[in-house]
Amino acid sequence: MPKDATPQITHHGAVTGVTGSCHQYQTARTNALIDCGLFQGAESNRPLHAFDFAVPEVSALIVTHCHIDHVGRIPWLIAAGFRGPIYCTEPTAALLPLVLEDALGIHIPDDADLVEKALARILSQLQPVPYNQWQPLHGAETELRFQPAGHIMGSAYVELETHGHRTVFSGDLGAPGAVFVDPPQAPERADILVLESTYGNRDHEARAERKTQLGNSLKRALADGGTVLIPAFSLGCTQEILAFIEDLLHENNLTHPNAAHPGKREPALPIILDSPLALRMTQAYRHLVNHWREPLQTKREAGRFPLAFDQLITLEHHKDHLAMVKRLTHTRQPAVVLAASGMCQGGRIMNYLEAMLPLPETDVFFVGYQAKGTLGAAIQSAHPGDTVRVNNQPTQMNAQVHRLSGFSAHADRTGLTNFCTDIPTAPTEIRLVHGDARVKREFKAHLANKLPNTKIWVPG
Ligand SMILES: [Zn+2]
Ligand SMILES: [Zn+2]
Repeated sequence: MPKDATPQITHHGAVTGVTGSCHQYQTARTNALIDCGLFQGAESNRPLHAFDFAVPEVSALIVTHCHIDHVGRIPWLIAAGFRGPIYCTEPTAALLPLVLEDALGIHIPDDADLVEKALARILSQLQPVPYNQWQPLHGAETELRFQPAGHIMGSAYVELETHGHRTVFSGDLGAPGAVFVDPPQAPERADILVLESTYGNRDHEARAERKTQLGNSLKRALADGGTVLIPAFSLGCTQEILAFIEDLLHENNLTHPNAAHPGKREPALPIILDSPLALRMTQAYRHLVNHWREPLQTKREAGRFPLAFDQLITLEHHKDHLAMVKRLTHTRQPAVVLAASGMCQGGRIMNYLEAMLPLPETDVFFVGYQAKGTLGAAIQSAHPGDTVRVNNQPTQMNAQVHRLSGFSAHADRTGLTNFCTDIPTAPTEIRLVHGDARVKREFKAHLANKLPNTKIWVPG
């Protein structure tokens, strides 16, 4: 292989934490970015438009999946002069405009025209590529292939090959047991592997039992009335939880709204999806039924609707949201609310938390990763009677807080390790990104034991 085939890889994000994913891949005639995500939580003070590389010189953007920490800065990349194609999988191409429309709406709330123009431009640059198919990068000497990453709908790890030298960017890898997508297979080959390490220092417990755990916890939580609040990431997480809840309702014969209380018009247990973005994502997931994994398609064929069951109430308008917060706070009737954001950093969950954290009947269920510096992390570590700041108000915490293990859409230590060790020839180099510093240090030591001949290092 020619010497100049070895790429230069620079990490512009997801280096010191888990957000802001952005990696640059350069060879003599290739200059591509892999992901262009938003910094969140403790890392969110970085300006959106400040890129530390020459944007107009980048000739292609490759997107691993639609989470905001991987795609959130795309509009600003384009504003800074990026005109190349945006390569992604077909489901990602369907979801991306929804995610970015929401992101733009948050950052440019008063200019619908500008948002529309920015979206039109992004759409014109989108280039969907089927899974498992090599695609030459426009104007470059490199080929690209997407492989299923098992994380969320459309997620992929990316293989880049230049004159026989292969680099794999893992994006975010999923764990076995994902509801909608199949787990990832290890790459067939990788000279360099750039690997996420979010859960590199621990294994998920009881992943197989998480549905039972969710069911039991819900029952207990609802026995004393009050609302169960699930701060849920709009994309991926929300749809998985809905499918689990549909399963629980089905198994307990509660799928008909009047089954438990035949005389009543109200559903026995309302499941409230109060998040316009999560609602649009859920609708998009429904349309992507052909990409669902087999067991779920079978359910759908048997006449079940994992994402559109009877008890599901969706709230679109802000006034309905405010009315629901008020009503549930006042009546304290049993209900389950799913609302964004997943780390309690804005979104409609904030009003529920402000109103309901002081109520002892409230149960908050955390199902995803809570980054340092987020309100989610603060609630998780608070004790009864402590005060947390919600919507800038000191709010007393009397609610019960639960963490449901096994709901993460990320591979755990075993999953990440197998992804590396199942590659028939060990990579020359593995770079650990997308993880907290301590996690990466521990995972590096763990991996070095398994792959003694591979150079394992942590950039940054
Ligand atoms: Zn992700
Ligand atoms: Zn990520």
